Amino acid sequence: MSESAIECQEVVRSYEGGLVQALRGVSFSIPTQSSAAIVGPSGSGKSTLLHLIGALDRPTSGRVSILGQDLARITDLDSLRGRTIGFVFQLHHLIPNLPLWENVSLPAVPLGLSRAERKRKACGLLERVGLQERVEFLPVKCSGGERQRAAVARALINDPKLLLADEPTGSVDSETGRQILDLFESFAEDRDMTRVLITHNEAIAAEADLTLRIVDGRLAEQVRKA
Ligand code: ADP
Repeated sequence: MSESAIECQEVVRSYEGGLVQALRGVSFSIPTQSSAAIVGPSGSGKSTLLHLIGALDRPTSGRVSILGQDLARITDLDSLRGRTIGFVFQLHHLIPNLPLWENVSLPAVPLGLSRAERKRKACGLLERVGLQERVEFLPVKCSGGERQRAAVARALINDPKLLLADEPTGSVDSETGRQILDLFESFAEDRDMTRVLITHNEAIAAEADLTLRIVDGRLAEQVRKA
């Protein structure tokens, strides 16, 4: 097995036939089971980078490897993503007319688990994030923090090796933000899971094992925690 969960070599991603250069040759690696924070000004290329390392997109040139697999060699990115990567976004994106447990269980549908098995797993995760009393609630009946914790449970339903988060604490108060980050770390302890998050919060970034600072599509700085 590779020692790096993520490896990027001279990654370029341009849009509009090359008119927009979102990433201009970025190289770094993120060791397995570690945490990394991506920081940088708005429009610097952070989301573009997260999409690439989440197998949501392919580079224009350069190499992206996820869990030892070169993206260029993988034809079915959906399958790789579904089985190995969990996502948490700034907004929870829960489906309004489904109870929390069903929202949490949705990413497990393509894996062919029975409904009862999906419910068992989802309820176990909801309990772990402190929402055992809310499993049958619709999202609208839950607070913003509860919805974001449900989104964390949903990201973990398929036991991902890689958890990717885009400003996961951006729309919740600081106490809930702290709970969300603590949940990431507590889950990472009992699964060998690598965590990568985009944040504007320098204090949160400083907790990560590795900070990648992107400025104008380039890696301006990488800092490894001592
Ligand atoms: P950040 O996440 O740091 O705010 P992004 O990765 O979203 O930055 O964007 C980097 C640059 O790429 C910006 O100039 C943005 O406008 C541009 N960009 C992002 N996605 C697209 C797209 N699908 N089409 C065209 N330009 C894009």
